[in-house]
Amino acid sequence: MKFKRLKLSGFKSFVEPTELRIERGLTGVVGPNGCGKSNLLEAIRWVMGEGSPKSLRGGGMEDVIFAGTQARPPRDFAEVSLLVDRDAQEAGEDQAGEMEVTRRIERGAGSAYRMNGRDVRAKDVSLLFADAATGAHSPALVSQGKIGAVIAAKPQQRRQLLEEAAGISGLHARRKDAEQKLRAAENNLERLDRILGEQA
Ligand code: ATP
Repeated sequence: MKFKRLKLSGFKSFVEPTELRIERGLTGVVGPNGCGKSNLLEAIRWVMGEGSPKSLRGGGMEDVIFAGTQARPPRDFAEVSLLVDRDAQEAGEDQAGEMEVTRRIERGAGSAYRMNGRDVRAKDVSLLFADAATGAHSPALVSQGKIGAVIAAKPQQRRQLLEEAAGISGLHARRKDAEQKLRAAENNLERLDRILGEQA
């Protein structure tokens, strides 16, 4: 999966609609302290489904919405779109190509996701990125202090890093899903057996 473009509007300090093209190879973001470099990385993590406001340096999820300054009123919503490109090997012939994932949050209304303009569930977005061995918690996104955290990580956390790198974390999510469905089916069967037993 390649990231091709990031669009932000009303997200943290990016109050005006802003578009960044992500070219092939290494991308560096430079600028003075407080200009919004970390906010960009947080926007990528947020659109990929980050659910913890704390890891976005906020108290609540609505803190990602532009809070206003002395000169500008606050915004009512924040929206981030990430354009990704997937090849046939990764996504299958029919799903290959560009896909735009959008997350939008409105004050008092929570957040919603779209893929190529179609409403989808948060789970669809996290599976899309997990299958590509990336995602909001991917070790490929190295934020400040992360190197120290990796060095101090417990064996279980290190294993998660290796599984991400090996591209199997998407399989774990699907397995959990399948196990839940299996349990629900077993419960239904048990109920059915009981009802049949009562009628006999
Ligand atoms: P440094 O180099 O110091 O790490 P940085 O370039 O990474 O800085 P960020 O931490 O991304 O900068 O941006 C911080 C700026 O974003 C601050 O000026 C802060 O006021 C602003 N900011 C964060 N959240 C919001 C918000 N919800 N509304 C408006 N501005 C915000």
